[in-house]
Amino acid sequence: MTETALLPTAPLRARAEIDLAALRANVRALRERAPGAALMAVVKSDAYGHGALRCAREAVAAGASWLGTATPEEALVLRAKGGLPDGVRIMCWLWTPGGPWREAIDADLDVSVSGMWALREVSDAARAAGRPARVQLKADTGLGRNGCQPGDWAELVGAALDAERAGLVRVTGLWSHFACADEPGHPSIAAQLGAFRELVGYAERQGVRPEVRHIANSPATLTLPESHFDLVRTGIALYGISPSPEVGVPADFGLRPVMTLSASLALVKHVPAGHGVSYGHHYTTPGETTLGLVPLGYADGIPRHASGAGPVLVGGKWRTVAGRIAMDQFVVDLGGDEPAVGAEAVLFGPGDRGEPTAEDWAQAAGTIAYEIVTRIGTRVPRVHVNEVASGAGS
Ligand SMILES: *Cc1c(COP(=O)(O)O)cnc(C)c1O
Repeated sequence: MTETALLPTAPLRARAEIDLAALRANVRALRERAPGAALMAVVKSDAYGHGALRCAREAVAAGASWLGTATPEEALVLRAKGGLPDGVRIMCWLWTPGGPWREAIDADLDVSVSGMWALREVSDAARAAGRPARVQLKADTGLGRNGCQPGDWAELVGAALDAERAGLVRVTGLWSHFACADEPGHPSIAAQLGAFRELVGYAERQGVRPEVRHIANSPATLTLPESHFDLVRTGIALYGISPSPEVGVPADFGLRPVMTLSASLALVKHVPAGHGVSYGHHYTTPGETTLGLVPLGYADGIPRHASGAGPVLVGGKWRTVAGRIAMDQFVVDLGGDEPAVGAEAVLFGPGDRGEPTAEDWAQAAGTIAYEIVTRIGTRVPRVHVNEVASGAGS
C-alpha cells in the first residue's frame, strides 16, 4: 500500500492530495443516482492510487455497504487493517488456482467463482474451515474476459447448488461485467443486459437465492438505470472522474475529482534561444526564455507518452511539458516568467483553480484517466485531507 504522509511540516517535493470530503460527496451523489441499489466502493489497486484503507473507510462512512477489490490479497488487507464497521461486505474477483480461499472464508469475504475449478477449490477450503464460503457466481454475458460462458452456466449453477446443499457454500450473488458501458448506446449493452437477465432467471429457477444481482460499473451506474439491480460497483466515479468524455464531465453527475497532483519547482532559470531541452533535444527554445524544472517523472507515473504535450499550471498559466519526460523530472517552458523556485506546479486536480484535470493528461498521453491516477507511484506521498472516519491503520 502507498505510504500516506501526515500533513507535512516541511514542503514536499511532490504530493497527491486526496480530498476525502470530495470522495464522500461522490459516494452520496452515486447513491442518489442508484437509489434502489446498494453501493459497492471499488477500491482495487490502492483505490485507483488514492489510498485503499482511508478511501474504504470514508466510502463506508458516506453510505457504501460493500467494498470491492480485484485480488483476494487486497481484500484481506482491507478486512485486517481497514478498521471497518462490522457488517461491511468485501468482495474480490480475481482468483488463480491455489489462492487464499481459506483465509478468505475466515475473513468473511465474498469470493467470485467463474468456473468449476474455483468452485472445487473454495468447497475444499470450506470443508477444512468447517463453515460455508460466500460465493458469487460470475457470468460472462459478452465481455469475453472473466466469467462463466452461458453454455457452461447450467453445470456451474448445478454444482454450486449441490455445494450449497452440502453446507460448503452460500451463493450470495449472481453477477457480470460490461464491455462497452462507457459508450452509451453501444449495441452490446442491451445484449449483455438481456443475457444477464436470462442467466439470473435460469439460476433462480433452479433454486439459487442470491442476496445481490449486479452488473453496473461506473458508466452504467451513471447512464443506465435499468442496469442497477441490487448493487452497483463504482470505481472511477467514486474518485470524481468521468469514465469517458463520451459519458460526460464529472460535474454533469455532481462528481468532483478527489486527487490533486502537484510539485514544487526544483529550479527556475534563464536560457538563450535555440537551447535543447531534455533527452533527445525534442524541444528547442524558440527564443530567450525561462525554464522550470518539475521534480516528477515516469517513475512517479507521469506518462512518458505525454512528452511535449502534458499540461501544468504554474503561476496561474497553463504550460506544456517541454521535450521528454524523464524518469524523475521534466521541464516546462515558462515563457520568460520568473516564478520563485519552489513555486507550485499543479499537474491535475478538480479543475476549478484553473488547473488541468486527469482527463487532460489522459488526452495528452493517448490513454484514459483511470490510468493517469492509478499509475501515480509510491514515491509520491498521498496527503489525505478532510478525513472523518477514523480507524486502526492508515
Ligand atoms: C474495476 C471494476 C469495476 C469498477 O469499474 P469502474 O469503471 O471504475 O467503475 C467494477 N467491476 C469490476 C469487475 C471491475 O473489475
